[in-house]
Amino acid sequence: MTPNFHHGAPPPKPFRPLTLIRCPAGAALPFVCLSPDLLSCMTHYYNRRTTPCEQPKCEACDAHIPYRWHSYLAGYNPNTRE
Ligand SMILES: [Zn+2]
Repeated sequence: MTPNFHHGAPPPKPFRPLTLIRCPAGAALPFVCLSPDLLSCMTHYYNRRTTPCEQPKCEACDAHIPYRWHSYLAGYNPNTRE
């Protein structure tokens, strides 16, 4: 495979990625919830990375790595307008 070299920087991306903000356990964040429901999945910390559980055939489950529940929702922070 041949590298594809360019002169100059690439053009800006057309959208800005969303920022993931973690809420500490027992804390509250000043967000207005925009999601009607949680988007969740089980994850493993496996091979030094957080990876989704891929049941029914999951390499991390086969290695007896414990799983954690991760859940996401969209929120709006009226203080920062983000
Ligand atoms: Zn798994």
